Amino acid sequence: MPKTKETVLEIDLGALTHNYNYLKSKLQSNTKFLAVVKAFAYGSDAIEIAKHLQTLNVDYLAVAYTKEGVALRDAGITTPILVLHPQPINFETIIGRCLEPSIYSSKILNEFIEVAEAKNQSNYPVHVKFNTGLNRLGFWETDVNHVVSKLNKTNSIIVKSIFSHLAASEDTNEIEFTRQQINRFQTITDQFKSLIHYQPWLHLCNTSGVINYSNAHYDMVRCGIGLYGFGNSATEDKNLKPIASLKSVISQMHQIEPKETVGYNRAYKAKGYEKTATIPLGHADGINRIYGNEKGFVFVNGKKAPIIGNVCMDMIMVNVTNIDCEEGDEVIIFDGKHKASEVAEATGTISYETITSISQRVNRKFIN
Ligand SMILES: *Cc1c(COP(=O)(O)O)cnc(C)c1O
Repeated sequence: MPKTKETVLEIDLGALTHNYNYLKSKLQSNTKFLAVVKAFAYGSDAIEIAKHLQTLNVDYLAVAYTKEGVALRDAGITTPILVLHPQPINFETIIGRCLEPSIYSSKILNEFIEVAEAKNQSNYPVHVKFNTGLNRLGFWETDVNHVVSKLNKTNSIIVKSIFSHLAASEDTNEIEFTRQQINRFQTITDQFKSLIHYQPWLHLCNTSGVINYSNAHYDMVRCGIGLYGFGNSATEDKNLKPIASLKSVISQMHQIEPKETVGYNRAYKAKGYEKTATIPLGHADGINRIYGNEKGFVFVNGKKAPIIGNVCMDMIMVNVTNIDCEEGDEVIIFDGKHKASEVAEATGTISYETITSISQRVNRKFIN
C-alpha cells in the first residue's frame, strides 16, 4: 500500500465482502439480509457501500432519514430501501422515490395512508415497528388490534414486514431482558398475523442480535456495525475486518523547550525537551475535542503518539519525542490493526460514534 500524502479515509470493499459473508454464515440460508447504510454507511460512504452490497445481492437496505434514501436512489440504487425514521413531511417523497417507510405510530400510520390514497397507491409496502422495550420508536403491544383494523380498511398499503429493535443485544448481563423482548415480539407478531390475511416478514436482530440470539433471526436480520468491521465484543471483532482506515501525514515538526506550551489555551506544557508533530485533521474532521489532552492517540511509524493539548478545528499536535519520524511521514488514526474500537474505548465512547464522526470533509478512497 503506497503511503498517504494527505488525510484520507480509505475504505476496503474487500473487507466489506468478508464481513457480509461472515454475518451471512451465521444465518439460515433462507434468512434475508438487510444492510443498514444510515449515516453515510456508518461514516464511510453510503453510495459506494450500497452499490457494493447490491453486487453481493443484499436483500434490503435501510437508512434513518428520507434524504439518505433519496441520495441512494439518485445514485441509481434499485435495492428496496427501508426508511427507519421518516416524518409525515417526507411521505410524498417516500412514495415518489420508491422508499419504504417504518410506520411507528398512529399519527404516522394515518398520515401515510392519507398520502398513499391521495396518490392512488395500492399495496404500497410499509414496515410496522413495535416497541418491545427500547422505548424509542414503535407501537405498543396493546396497539395491535387498532393497527390491524386500520390496515384492513385500506388497500393503499401492505405490511411487508413487522419489526422491533433490541435494546442490549451485545450485553451478556441483559440476556434475560433480551429474551423478554424476543418473547414480546413473538406475542405481538402472532396476534398481528392472526388478524391479517397475509404473512408479513418478521425481523428483530441487529448485528449483536445475529451473533448472540440465533433463535431470533426470523425472516430477516438488520446489520450495520458488523458490516463495517465491529462486533461489539473482542471475540467477534477477531472475525470481522474494519473497512475504514483513517490516515494522515505529518505537516510539520517542532522542537519544544521545557515549560513551553502547545496549542490553544496553552493546554499542554512540555516536561522537558520534546518533539511534536502537527497533523492536518481536527474536530471539524471528526477528531472530537475529547481526543485532546492525551486521551486520544495516533500511530506514527508503528508507534503510539498521544494527542497533546486541545484539538483544533483543522489540526492536532502529537508527542513524537521518542519516535523516529519526519515531515511527510504517514500517520494512522485507526485501521485494521489499530482499531477504531480502541480509540473509542480510550475516548470514552463506542466504535459507532468514532467511525460515524468522520466528517464529509475527509476524502474517501476505495480499495480492493
Ligand atoms: C442502526 C440500526 C440497526 C443496526 O444496528 P447495528 O448494531 O449497527 O447492527 C438495526 N436496526 C435499527 C432499527 C437501527 O436503528
